[in-house]
Amino acid sequence: MSAISDINTMEGTAVILDEIVRQAYQCLECGRCTGSCPMVELFPNDFHPHHLLSDLTKDPEKVLKGYELWFCASCYKCNKRCPQALEYPYFIMQLRGLALAKNGVVPLRKAFSRIRTIIPFPVSFLSVCIHPERINLDPSIIDKMHRDHLSQKKKDKFPESGPKIAVVGSGPAGLMGAYELRKMGYRVSIFESQTNPGGMFSRAIPEYRLPLQIVLDEIENLQESGIEIRPNTTLGKDITLDQLLIQDFKAVLLASGAHSCKALGITGEDFEGVYTTLEFLEELKIKKKVINAKTVVVIGGGNTAMDAASAAMKYGAKEAFLLYRRTREEMPADMNEIREAEKNGVQIRYLEAPVGIHGVKSKFNQLECIKMELGEPDLTGRRRPVPVEGSNFILEADLLVIAIGEKPQIESFPEKIATGKDSTILVNPHSMETSIPGVFAAGDNVLGPATVPDAIIGARRAATGIDNYIKTS
Ligand SMILES: Cc1cc2nc3c(=O)[nH]c(=O)nc-3n(C[C@H](O)[C@H](O)[C@H](O)COP(=O)(O)OP(=O)(O)OC[C@H]3O[C@@H](n4cnc5c(N)ncnc54)[C@H](O)[C@@H]3O)c2cc1C
Ligand code: SF4
Ligand code: SF4
Repeated sequence: MSAISDINTMEGTAVILDEIVRQAYQCLECGRCTGSCPMVELFPNDFHPHHLLSDLTKDPEKVLKGYELWFCASCYKCNKRCPQALEYPYFIMQLRGLALAKNGVVPLRKAFSRIRTIIPFPVSFLSVCIHPERINLDPSIIDKMHRDHLSQKKKDKFPESGPKIAVVGSGPAGLMGAYELRKMGYRVSIFESQTNPGGMFSRAIPEYRLPLQIVLDEIENLQESGIEIRPNTTLGKDITLDQLLIQDFKAVLLASGAHSCKALGITGEDFEGVYTTLEFLEELKIKKKVINAKTVVVIGGGNTAMDAASAAMKYGAKEAFLLYRRTREEMPADMNEIREAEKNGVQIRYLEAPVGIHGVKSKFNQLECIKMELGEPDLTGRRRPVPVEGSNFILEADLLVIAIGEKPQIESFPEKIATGKDSTILVNPHSMETSIPGVFAAGDNVLGPATVPDAIIGARRAATGIDNYIKTS
């Protein structure tokens, strides 16, 4: 299929649209995409993925003028369930490029005005979920929405009489949960271990995708509804769950994310120049690190690994290699993320794995790797990578980023809290209550690394669960 860059020519535009319409005809209208879409759960009156495809076959120009295009959050859930394997988020990205070129930003503004009725950090949400950087949206358009939102936002006046609720973590799940609870009249305090609130928004998502100032402004705005944030306060270190419950908090929402980066388990991971993904992204975002003309190697095949490698290129790396031990077919990253990384100049090397981290005086300078081949499928159904004996080789580099996954950091939580695979917190899926009565959880600490819409949905559900708990206990 032609790419967004072809939108600059009339011919390119027609080819892209024809191709998407042709693919839309393959849709069976089974509705699985709509049934699995988190944005449908959040905006049931605005967005129905399979209707949009059907409309596209009837009147593509009308679809390009509409605002529905702007609700897809590119989470790829629909693609994984589609019997035709249609790559919906890719069509949407292409259509958005066409819509902008033909009809300007009015439909996007309309979608934004709907998004801000539900989500109290709409510009951060939009910046992360619609990927303006992929459709070359002029940053001044997002800036203008941000300024308009801040100036138009009326101070939300909610009653202050309800019981006190503690929220742990100020990422999208914590902020959404706190806001929903404030709307119900509860007095809410957020305990946040970092200096900056915002979770992955302020810590990891690269500045070129989401400027830190936007996040901080939106949270300041949100605090005006009466939400208290206590920064530099870590549950398990500065305060315990029991202390929160003994103080007059009637319930606790754990929204602590998934911040424990998995390790390779080989020597040298503590060398200077070796980072976990979150350390690396934080250096770029908070400490404004510039990677002058260096060779960066990222190990991993997920969305976060793609973001880390793209960010390396954006912030000055001479070259960035991404090493993945299987092939592109088995790669967990979404196709849009892989395309974006390649567009940013990242060189993806398949069927290679690290076996040794070398350096001089504990400063990293070489990665020893081995070639892999695919063997029999493992328990996940993906073919197992098997080392090719004697194929070791050396990759010279300056920085190494280990991006093989994150999991919740639950060591600081009480042992009696039930956990499942990869340290995720087990909850009742309807109320989001954990194994401890009065303690609820939502976001990445329940799901493992997931998405912003998932965090928002879980937090809304938890707020309702807390409300029911308090009213019935
Ligand atoms: C690089 C990157 C790119 C991403 N891109 C996208 C994207 O394009 N689209 C998308 O939908 N999602 C994306 N995500 C995923 C998304 O950011 C997360 O799913 C989302 O932030 C989860 O929200 P959360 O509130 O559960 O956790 P977090 O955002 O991680 O927030 C958790 C908060 O809890 C705090 N905390 C942790 N432990 C404690 C404690 N003991 N005491 C006090 N505070 C604590 C943390 O400091 C943090 O502020 C991306 C993630 C990363 C890392
Ligand atoms: S899941 Fe696929 S086939 Fe089914 S309605 Fe959605 S796009 Fe069409
Ligand atoms: S990619 Fe996600 S948000 Fe977009 S239509 Fe599919 S399920 Fe919905």
